[in-house]
Amino acid sequence: MKWEGERQSDNVEDRRGAGGGGGGLRVGGRGVGIGTIVVALVAGWIFGINPLTVLGLLSGGGGGAPVVQTEPAARPPANDRAAAFASTVLADTEDVWRAVFQAGGGTYRDPKLVLYRGSTPSACGQGEAAMGPFYCPGDGKVYLDLGFFDTLSQRLGAPGDFAQAYVIAHEVGHHVQNLLGVTAKVDAMRGKVSETQMNALSVRVELQADCLAGVWTHHSQKGKGWLDQSDVQEAMNAAAQIGDDTLQRNAGAAVRPERFTHGTSQQRMSWFQRGLQAGSVKDCNTFDARSL
Ligand SMILES: [Zn+2]
Repeated sequence: MKWEGERQSDNVEDRRGAGGGGGGLRVGGRGVGIGTIVVALVAGWIFGINPLTVLGLLSGGGGGAPVVQTEPAARPPANDRAAAFASTVLADTEDVWRAVFQAGGGTYRDPKLVLYRGSTPSACGQGEAAMGPFYCPGDGKVYLDLGFFDTLSQRLGAPGDFAQAYVIAHEVGHHVQNLLGVTAKVDAMRGKVSETQMNALSVRVELQADCLAGVWTHHSQKGKGWLDQSDVQEAMNAAAQIGDDTLQRNAGAAVRPERFTHGTSQQRMSWFQRGLQAGSVKDCNTFDARSL
């Protein structure tokens, strides 16, 4: 991916400095214990990756003192390559989604991207790096600990810059769902349907976010021509590596479809590809799809 020198987003909030890190300040913040568990359970359908599985993969994940941000929003330092990359991808999602919304008669509101280390507060509860990147509909922010990209590459077997771009685009896809009202509709079902049914809904939410990541990729490449075939392969591989069946299998657990919250590797690849080929949100209606 030829991303160097392209526009970077102004919507990146860098919390990695003061008060950052796993064991930072305690400023009368809420305790981690129960809150973390609640976030982990509630988050299954929001987070880019099954949080419980990742917790199982990482040693010592989910611990540490709560961190309350005390500094005003900061921009990442200019010489930070990883942050520059994330910021460049975010900027392009802004360009693409602004145009797509405009073409459909709507208005896109940019999400914020919060870079943090270890642990950070969000409107959805305390965010923990061990859960993987996530989007919080309550504050319209994507939360990303850049260390996740090491996990993605080394532990989850999905290396490459475009694998990372896909992860960011997937989370931005959740923001798009929020703007389209999908998130609220699904959330309204909570408590009204069984856990298994809620998991099945979660799978449709997640596959739609994968499809929207594909839609972004389609328009991004049309506009910038900055990808080559190996980039698409990196995203496809990432989608495969974070499929529920693959994650469960790699964690040494039996594959239990009723516990799927994100879809199988095959489904994640196929919905990403559908969005990529069509470039249209209309083709991402996972909720009406008979088979996924
Ligand atoms: Zn997700």
